[in-house]
Amino acid sequence: MHGFLTRDGIAPAELLRIGRRQLRRYRIRVVRGEATDARRERAGFLLDFADGTRLRSRTLLIATGVVDRIPPIEGLAPLYGRSVFHCPYCDGWEVSDRPVAVYGRGRPGMALALSLQTWTEDVALVCDGRARLLAEERQVLERRRIRIYESRVARLAGRRGGLEIVFRDGNRLSRRALFFSTGQDMSSDLPRRLGCRFNSKGGVRTDRLEGTGVPGLYVAGDASHDVQFAIVAAAEGAKAAVAINRTLQEQETVSVAARTRETRRGARRVRR
Ligand SMILES: Cc1cc2nc3c(=O)[nH]c(=O)nc-3n(C[C@H](O)[C@H](O)[C@H](O)COP(=O)(O)OP(=O)(O)OC[C@H]3O[C@@H](n4cnc5c(N)ncnc54)[C@H](O)[C@@H]3O)c2cc1C
Repeated sequence: MHGFLTRDGIAPAELLRIGRRQLRRYRIRVVRGEATDARRERAGFLLDFADGTRLRSRTLLIATGVVDRIPPIEGLAPLYGRSVFHCPYCDGWEVSDRPVAVYGRGRPGMALALSLQTWTEDVALVCDGRARLLAEERQVLERRRIRIYESRVARLAGRRGGLEIVFRDGNRLSRRALFFSTGQDMSSDLPRRLGCRFNSKGGVRTDRLEGTGVPGLYVAGDASHDVQFAIVAAAEGAKAAVAINRTLQEQETVSVAARTRETRRGARRVRR
């Protein structure tokens, strides 16, 4: 989870701490570390960790999230989550009626700029080079009074209550926030290695209960195909947990039935 506060001011790290504390009550073992490899075995999965730990499981739920492709602009990283954002649904309301910039080119940049006008009319599109827009697309932006900046960006500078975009030609643009639309990648390669299928945006294709089609393997949260919110990630985890529990119960039922059959056969042999 990244840099946002809940309405009650709980930071993501605190939410995780509360969750981990609650797990202890249910005698859940938490293994900290990077999972570096996962393989399918006859009866489940074999998981390797960077520190040499090895775990076997009958089912596996992957919730390793995504990494945003952060534009390589000097000064951007320390502002990310403060005055630089990627998701209007997460951070748009907080900048309502304030001047904002969108960093992006072509259709994705244009789409983000237009969508931000739900929250504020004052949107600038900063392309850091050629805008890569058709004449009619430029007209749409012009009609919506979204100004296009095609000068190269030198750096971002933080300032009280916002940021300043410093262009290589020396011009500066003050904004409350900058949103970017430069895509994201999976944090982990494990879903690909285990044979998951992906959608066109790179998310793992999952069914209603987060099953991947690979027997016993589930993917929840940002790594799966649905919208990316903390509450959605938690809900997908809960749905996957129900599916996993059912799978394990079915396996138990099958093996109890097999054991009962075996015991009866053994008893018949003894009577003969
Ligand atoms: C700037 C910003 C603001 C946001 N604001 C909001 C908001 O206001 N409201 C909202 O609902 N959502 C918001 N989001 C989105 C929200 O953070 C995500 O939807 C949510 O965190 C997804 O949860 P997740 O568990 O799927 O992934 P993550 O929270 O990304 O967690 C994945 C975890 O897996 C770990 N991991 C990755 N690879 C491995 C590996 N190989 N082995 C072990 N661990 C691994 C990562 O280190 C990470 O700890 C925001 C996101 C950003 C970037």
